Amino acid sequence: MNKLEKIPATVITGFLGAGKTSLIRNLIENANGKRLALIINEFGDLGVDGDVLKGCGNENCSEDDIIELANGCICCTVADEFLPTIQALLNRENRPDHIIVETSGLALPKPLVRAFGWPEVRTQVTVDGVITVIDGPAYRDGLFASNPEAVQDQREADENLDHDSPLEELFEDQLNCADLIILNKADLLTEEEAADAINAIGAEVRPSVKLIKTSHGKINANVLLGIGAAAEDDLDVRKSHHDGDDDHEHDDFESFVLDLPNPSTPEELVSRLTTAIEIHGILRVKGFIAVAGKEMRLVVQGVGNRIQHYYDREWAEDEVPSSRLVVIGEHGLDEQAISALLQG
Ligand SMILES: [Zn+2]
Repeated sequence: MNKLEKIPATVITGFLGAGKTSLIRNLIENANGKRLALIINEFGDLGVDGDVLKGCGNENCSEDDIIELANGCICCTVADEFLPTIQALLNRENRPDHIIVETSGLALPKPLVRAFGWPEVRTQVTVDGVITVIDGPAYRDGLFASNPEAVQDQREADENLDHDSPLEELFEDQLNCADLIILNKADLLTEEEAADAINAIGAEVRPSVKLIKTSHGKINANVLLGIGAAAEDDLDVRKSHHDGDDDHEHDDFESFVLDLPNPSTPEELVSRLTTAIEIHGILRVKGFIAVAGKEMRLVVQGVGNRIQHYYDREWAEDEVPSSRLVVIGEHGLDEQAISALLQG
């Protein structure tokens, strides 16, 4: 793949039990030679989804290409879990042709899609489409999930979940963010029930959204992939119950580059960084540092309040050893205050 071409990513949402895993499994088996990477956040039956998919032994998707994010709701752990994972995938020698993200049924899709606007990600990945999988019989019965108790258990088990959205709100958010809606388990509905469901859902969503019924998640990969929605660019038309919530205000990112005086030890810098991260809304820092008297270049990377540093190589002869960091944070980052703090 051309390194300059963005890698498409498909976000798959839907409640536990709606059939996301069988849809993905079917996708792997019919990927037409595309190398897929899967990021799986459905932890309701912990590890099961990942194991099911890893067991499929398909060459289009090896075990290394299946990454489980089991530390809770993907939209609530975006900075700590999802973004580093995407970045690690992008740094691989052999990058995937397509990335599939299976969210937990409790996740709000919009903040996740918004995370693809992260400065380091948006130049390399685009959201090809958001696919919402609906449990046909559950919908007909006025439920949102086939097993609401299991969804409730999932909610209680998730320590990182920071939104207590009712199921109908989550359901509507999933519909409103979708480019493609799959009415699954249609074999358990009559023709008329399926048509009624499609009409009712179709009346609620944006006109460009496609609805398809399917059974056992079996659907042509060409329908699922290659939608080309670039969803990260038209979030405004994807209404949600949580627009403007404080919970997920950490969505507009900002970054700036900061030149620093060379510190005398790595610890000196790390201690300043720790303070800056605590006080200001910094989500991520990274850069190269020249430590006084050292011939090696120091790499500094911070995600949340975890800061890593190591010497990676000697400064080259044509380089002037110097210290420079990229600081990334929420909208409204106080560049002046942070600069003052870090420049000492
Ligand atoms: Zn969340």
